[in-house]
Amino acid sequence: MPRILLHVCCGPCSLMPIVHLRDEGWEPTAFFFNPNVHPADEWKKRRDAMRDAAARLDVPLLEEGEPVNPGLWTRGLGGVLQEGERCRFCYRPRVERTARLAAERHFDAFTTSLLYSRYQRHDVIAEEAERAAAAFGATFLYRDFRPWGWDGIAMSKELGLYRQKWCGCVLSMKEAFQQRKEAEKRKAEQKAERTARLAVEAEERRKKKEAIAANLNKRARKARARALAAETAPSL
Ligand code: SF4
Repeated sequence: MPRILLHVCCGPCSLMPIVHLRDEGWEPTAFFFNPNVHPADEWKKRRDAMRDAAARLDVPLLEEGEPVNPGLWTRGLGGVLQEGERCRFCYRPRVERTARLAAERHFDAFTTSLLYSRYQRHDVIAEEAERAAAAFGATFLYRDFRPWGWDGIAMSKELGLYRQKWCGCVLSMKEAFQQRKEAEKRKAEQKAERTARLAVEAEERRKKKEAIAANLNKRARKARARALAAETAPSL
């Protein structure tokens, strides 16, 4: 059976790649190497979730590295901080280390669980992985694991794995918090708008009811006046 080194970014993202590589006849070994995950306690949570996933799926797991200082890591981006653009420099060391290890340990190919995420840039990952493969004499296997996104989510919930709330780096953490704050603000504004609209509609209904009641009273008074006039009119 051909052996493949699967770079894994976290437990939940590793599930479908492991399942589908096995379905294809590969024998995967997982490799956790993610200096881009900040802060340290988040890195540990993801590492532990990966250990858990590996044990549950009975897949060998190699680990390398430890939590990296977020400031140091960010400085390593050389000023490319924009979301999307900086990611190339985040994929690069991870796929390079995986390619080198795959070559050193004579794996038939390597790939990465980053290809499971619909938030990652597949074209850039593939480009960087192909470059690393050529540089270290390894074979990169491109697979698009995204179609199994929902299966992976369901399985990670079923296994009770820790599920992260931001991509990894300190910049993505701040962006995720900011997005959540903005979403909460939008939600509160929508709620306030709805409450105000309902109050206006209720007031309009009340006024309409009042007008109908006033109209009925007026007609009743007129009818009574007519009846009275008919009773008191001198008979001829
Ligand atoms: S957003 Fe994600 S992929 Fe991009 S640099 Fe940060 S951790 Fe890396």
